Amino acid sequence: MRVLATVLLVVAAHTLPAQPASAARGTPAPRSAAISDVRYQLTFNAARGVQRSIGVQMTFVVSGREPVLLSLPAWTPGAYEISNYARFVSGFAPTAAGRPLRWDKLDPDTWRIQADGAREVTVRFEARADSLDNAFNWARDEFALINGTNVFLYPEGRPLEFASTVTIQTETDWRVATGLAPAAGGWSAPTYHELVDAPFFVGRFDLDSMRIADRWLRLATYPRGSEKGERRAALWASLRRAVPAEVAVFHETPWTNYTVMQIADSAFGGMSALEHQNSNVGVVGTELLDAPFVPSVYAHEIFHAFNVKRLRPAEMWPYRYDQAQPTPWLWVSEGITDYYADLSLVRGGVIDAAAFLATTQGKMDHVAQLAAVSLEDASLQAWIHMTDGTSDIYYDKGSLAGLALDILIRDASDNQASLDDVMRDLYGAAYKGGRGFTADEWWGAVSRAARGASFREFSDKYVDGREPYPWTAWLAKAGWRVVTDTLREARLGVMLAPDSGGVRVAEVTPGSAAQRAGVRTGDVLVRVAGVPTSDRDFNSKWRARAGDREGAPLVLEIRRDGAPLTLNGAVHVATLISTRVENDPAANARAVRIRGGILAGTTTAR
Ligand SMILES: [Zn+2]
Repeated sequence: MRVLATVLLVVAAHTLPAQPASAARGTPAPRSAAISDVRYQLTFNAARGVQRSIGVQMTFVVSGREPVLLSLPAWTPGAYEISNYARFVSGFAPTAAGRPLRWDKLDPDTWRIQADGAREVTVRFEARADSLDNAFNWARDEFALINGTNVFLYPEGRPLEFASTVTIQTETDWRVATGLAPAAGGWSAPTYHELVDAPFFVGRFDLDSMRIADRWLRLATYPRGSEKGERRAALWASLRRAVPAEVAVFHETPWTNYTVMQIADSAFGGMSALEHQNSNVGVVGTELLDAPFVPSVYAHEIFHAFNVKRLRPAEMWPYRYDQAQPTPWLWVSEGITDYYADLSLVRGGVIDAAAFLATTQGKMDHVAQLAAVSLEDASLQAWIHMTDGTSDIYYDKGSLAGLALDILIRDASDNQASLDDVMRDLYGAAYKGGRGFTADEWWGAVSRAARGASFREFSDKYVDGREPYPWTAWLAKAGWRVVTDTLREARLGVMLAPDSGGVRVAEVTPGSAAQRAGVRTGDVLVRVAGVPTSDRDFNSKWRARAGDREGAPLVLEIRRDGAPLTLNGAVHVATLISTRVENDPAANARAVRIRGGILAGTTTAR
């Protein structure tokens, strides 16, 4: 998952805590009667679009006379929060041979059905589809995003490795896009995990495809026309360049086809995308479709097809859907994925080395702004959405830990090995071995790549611990250096929010020049040092006039309750320290080789 510049977390306020496992309370975990021959049918047509709902039908064969226990997931892998999709269900109705069956709820996410010896059972319900979130169902008049976790019931306490088929009832001229494999009249999934890992677009949307890394990559975009012409060509160009650079890390393309699914909506602030094993769903504010971060978000999600959808921490293998699965390794699953998103863009030529360094610098600044938090702690507490600003720091700090490990491995091996070897090594051992990776395996792979060097101290200080990263020393090994600039600048200390009445003061910082001059929240700021706030270069012009002498006179003209008022204040000067990463002209040949290797995705042959 990657969320950028977003203001949307509406759903979080309504979520329930995860269900504690019954087994933990000393009672046996509930188990459904065995079911087989599972068929799902989804209905989404023009009438459903108007209702913002999905019709769901599940048919299966029951063995034995025990109750059938059917659950909807509490969360969607990749979106690390409890969402309880069962709360969107209405009209739950199980039948056998046309006759209604008795049912009640076993727990908030689970229905208990008395099949009373019936062989074939059909369950019908409606799922509300009005949450614009890539892990939820969302419908418009002629379009729906359907997430499997929101509609596909599974038998509680039974293996999730059951095969199923899906058919979709829709308008004859509407389309369906999904990562599932086509089967007679619909689609099929070999396991429940794969079933719910392939969201659907149904309705009217744009769709085209391109051969990339020897496979078909499809681009499905809603609404129609939102991503067309030069904009669509630019997105395709970034995918065509970045995806092969990601495939090169693992030496294989693990999908037979891959679908990039994008929803643009003016009500959405920022961009959020969610990964699946051969697709991803991005939701982006319409005005941000051309933002420079869009290619980086898709590079991030596609790298997840390797790192987290396949190579995954042991705590999340296999996924379970009824409760949270915290892991101390999200800094690898999310942070190192983000490092590789940056690398794939620079290695593929979507961005240049200067842009890569600027992105890296932005991550360092983000970490520096926050209270020190360890990568393991930040990973573990992802599920509870920390409110101290660190809730997503495992992305940026984890990405920087990836860069640090890459530099240290290349330094220890004289650039003969890299973090790429660690990722490929673990992918082969853990994912291809059918399990999640452990701490011993991770650090073992890092140490092997670094020709036996120990990373115990690195782990203790910079992953488990909260020590600041020694960038000066680390970056020097890769021919980079940190340069610090000091800037003195006059500051007002107000947040301004222009409205129909003028440039209104939304917030005044205590102790600031504005507060000491008498500015209050709700005032309209008209002129500062004689410069009108309506001037397009207001900020630079008033600063130029006010100068940088602390305490010099500063006149602020405002309107309060409609009446003009002149406030005589004083200049307050803030000292700003900005840092940037740049090439070190004095770097030695070894460091230059390492720098080139990181940016190109190469190592030095022995
Ligand atoms: Zn992610």
